[in-house]
Amino acid sequence: MPELPEVETVRRGLAPTMEGARIARLELRRKDLRFPFPDGLEARVTGRSIVALGRRAKYLLIDLDNGTTIISHLGMSGSFRIEVEQLSDRPGEFHHPRSKDEKHDHAIFHLEGPKGASRVIYNDPRRFGFMDVAQRCELDLNPFLFGLGPEPTGNELSAAYLAERFAGKAQPLKSALLDQKNIAGLGNIYVCEALWRAHLRPTRAAASIVTTSGKPNKQMELLVASIRDVIADAIKAGGSSLRDHIKTDGSLGYFQHSFAVYDRESLPCGNPGCGGTVARIVQAGRSTFYCPACQK
Ligand SMILES: [Zn+2]
Repeated sequence: MPELPEVETVRRGLAPTMEGARIARLELRRKDLRFPFPDGLEARVTGRSIVALGRRAKYLLIDLDNGTTIISHLGMSGSFRIEVEQLSDRPGEFHHPRSKDEKHDHAIFHLEGPKGASRVIYNDPRRFGFMDVAQRCELDLNPFLFGLGPEPTGNELSAAYLAERFAGKAQPLKSALLDQKNIAGLGNIYVCEALWRAHLRPTRAAASIVTTSGKPNKQMELLVASIRDVIADAIKAGGSSLRDHIKTDGSLGYFQHSFAVYDRESLPCGNPGCGGTVARIVQAGRSTFYCPACQK
């Protein structure tokens, strides 16, 4: 399942092709993904130019020149790939980097850009992804985006802000960090990794890193820095893997990161001098990985 860094990597991979291009046609090959496509979606976007490709939490935001924004979520298995029209004497011939799974190509943006025609293809075998459309100025009211907390990479996320949210909360730290109203776009993997970097046990109470007067303590400061760093590192790693990815098969799928604790049960903790072993527990039905020796 893609997390925020993967979605950001997809955004960066698609931006050079999509930004500035005109949508000649949006081809929908079925009526729905996880939810039905919005009524009249094709008509609302056909002929419009893409002014920017943005992201909010795990949503891609395709901004059009008529003030409309297409909201795209990749679900569990969604991915995009780019096909560029061949420079040949046979117009309309497209280069197919890979042909597998074409039956799962559900939405195709036929684009006309300064460098020629291209297709941006949304493929989703399990169809947990979805698309919605909204007016740019009303995005915050969209049911999918309403009430989301600040981005983990932006300046809005501060220790003082999180202390305010966590004050008095007996809820485990991990659940509080997964709550999208507190921080938008953090998922299971990067919560585990950030808590490991901050040496904090996932089961301790959220309020335990807030002072009695509601201010952040040193551990909260370290946690916020760890969240920023772990996301920034993953986006950086995604960027480098993306270059290789495009070279090989043209797809903008997911990449394998190396994690410190996530999915590393029974393996040695990577914290220098720790000597502990990574443990797995289940919290709210989901696996939590942490080091009992150095996460207190
Ligand atoms: Zn450790």
